[in-house]
Amino acid sequence: MQKVIPHNRPTIGEEEICAAVKVMESGHLSQGTEVALFENEFCEYLGLNHGHAVAVSSGSAALYMAIRALDMDKNQRNTNVAIPAYSCSALRNAVLLAGKKPLYADVKDDSPNIDLTSDVIKEAGITIACHIYGMPERIDNHNVIEDCAQAIGATINGKLVGTQTEIGIFSFYATKPITSGGEGGMVVSKNKGYIDFIKDIRDFDMKNDNVVRFNMKMTDLQASVGRIQLKRLPEFEKKRHYLADRYEKKGIPLWRKEGSIEYRGIIRSRAPERLMEYLKQNGVQAILPITESELLCVPLTVPRAYALTHSLVSIPLYPSLTDEEQDTIIGLLNKYVDVGGNYDNVSTPTGLFTMAGLF
Ligand SMILES: *Cc1c(COP(=O)(O)O)cnc(C)c1O
Repeated sequence: MQKVIPHNRPTIGEEEICAAVKVMESGHLSQGTEVALFENEFCEYLGLNHGHAVAVSSGSAALYMAIRALDMDKNQRNTNVAIPAYSCSALRNAVLLAGKKPLYADVKDDSPNIDLTSDVIKEAGITIACHIYGMPERIDNHNVIEDCAQAIGATINGKLVGTQTEIGIFSFYATKPITSGGEGGMVVSKNKGYIDFIKDIRDFDMKNDNVVRFNMKMTDLQASVGRIQLKRLPEFEKKRHYLADRYEKKGIPLWRKEGSIEYRGIIRSRAPERLMEYLKQNGVQAILPITESELLCVPLTVPRAYALTHSLVSIPLYPSLTDEEQDTIIGLLNKYVDVGGNYDNVSTPTGLFTMAGLF
């Protein structure tokens, strides 16, 4: 039987396994010293002083906590939170869970990221901006939560993303750029007050002031794996860049930006479903990264995001992808171009990812 090349898979090695076993043998599994060390090492990674990162149970929890922290600080009467329509539903869920109202913004015309000049942003007290597919965006606006769930390691002018605004979040879900053993998240901020607030409300136990708190803690078991993954991040990044360059050298142009982490291998197609089906029949899992039905609002109101839902395919690109597997994918794509002929394909000679060509 043909072996399927999955669209994504986690990269876990001997070191992660040993770290997890050590925690299990120690008898202390819940939030403890491993979590504290992970938080410190995360601060060091981003060039922050210790005490400026807080680990939580998921990226979703991190978003929710970040909204609550900004809200607490500013005692916001404006309950609107602007989010990109072209993003993960975790954003909308966090906004609603925090008792806020989501407003939806379109993407930029040269990137899959939120257009921070959209009118709705002026109506919102808080905005969430993602670096989708690991493509970094410069953010100057105030009151923006920088969602780096897909973009740890990406850079803007050589500086790591995560601290451009008042507060940033990360996800360590199994197939994100690094994982803390399947689930996990982190909030970072230059404002230590936000971090201390979140440290307080992630843990309901032993408190007697009736403040609403919810268990969103990370465990030592998760943190022990996350610590190794953070240490290995440069190795993962190198491999992602290597694979992305290799796709391009062999005729498959990817959509990426300066400083990109290449979380996804995004190629353009005029018939994404057909291309995906062709790859599937030949043992390669590709996905439509965000579909029309996954848009967070009515497509008519976000024409650029809508166009993206019908023109992009994500092909396998992750650290454990082998050269041999990649050659299989490249061979299939090049063959498809030859057979397909009329440009419902991945490769046109010039200007492929000038977005103007999309509309
Ligand atoms: C994955 C993701 C999240 C949510 O993270 P979880 O850890 O899965 O809860 C939030 N935002 C973006 C952009 C994501 O990709």
